[in-house]
Amino acid sequence: MRELLTKRDIQLTKSLGQNFLHDGNQLRRIVNAAELKPADRALEIGPGLGPLTELLVAEAGEVLAIEKDGRLVSFLREQFAGRANFTLLHDDALEYLRRKEHDWQDWKLVANLPYSVASPILVELAMSPRRPERMVTTLQLEVAQRLMARADDDDYGILTLLVQLDYAPKEWFKIPAGCFFPSPDVDSACVVLTRRPEPFLREDQRPMFVRIVKRAFSQRRKMMLKLLKQEWPVEKLTAAFAELGISTMERAEKLGLEQFTALTKILHP
Ligand code: SAM
Repeated sequence: MRELLTKRDIQLTKSLGQNFLHDGNQLRRIVNAAELKPADRALEIGPGLGPLTELLVAEAGEVLAIEKDGRLVSFLREQFAGRANFTLLHDDALEYLRRKEHDWQDWKLVANLPYSVASPILVELAMSPRRPERMVTTLQLEVAQRLMARADDDDYGILTLLVQLDYAPKEWFKIPAGCFFPSPDVDSACVVLTRRPEPFLREDQRPMFVRIVKRAFSQRRKMMLKLLKQEWPVEKLTAAFAELGISTMERAEKLGLEQFTALTKILHP
């Protein structure tokens, strides 16, 4: 990778999270976790120099990659010229996802995400009405722990709930810093999230779920009822808490996903 970058006079850009995964075993492990079948469609965000792309193009029926760095786009266009199942977009992936609604229902995200935008990208995909069937993503260990968390864990919070609403965390594994070039300053992990077969909420109930979760976690140490009553009538909330058997003294971090969805259904039947 070093030689390749020197030859093309590419200086890596830290703000674009350019830490490239070069370890063959880890790349294979990521692709195996995606359980790709020949008819599958894979979305890769941030292909970089394409080591993961190479495996995806070999195993999936179709690969769509989105890369922001024009220098890498030129390299990838040469590298993958003539590969009929590969499409490359030169774009900012987050802007691309937000620009218009896409149908990702038959897609699997398989990506070593740029760490600075990993969380908003995952939320954008998870919250889209036609969300991908699986997301296999390498990111900062700290973010991976938030995605895998359960109620009452230190890492449990808004990101956990927004993603777990529609995705069950299946497995995760750490990837040592030495597997990347250059080695990042933070630890990394790959997380495998599978779309729930039956959604907990209807599409029209989701904005209410997001509002409740964001308000409930706006001040972690405060009682949830006190925070929620800034937005909803207290009588309605106390009745809902009673119906669900939630103490009026409870803090948001103690409540599981099912309790948040049940509360959503009461406030937005
Ligand atoms: N997939 C490659 C690998 O595993 O070696 C590279 C991963 S590197 C962590 C992240 C990649 O995302 C870089 O190639 C970077 O240029 C690209 N990138 C950064 N921000 C981006 C964005 N907003 N949209 C699309 N690509 C982005």
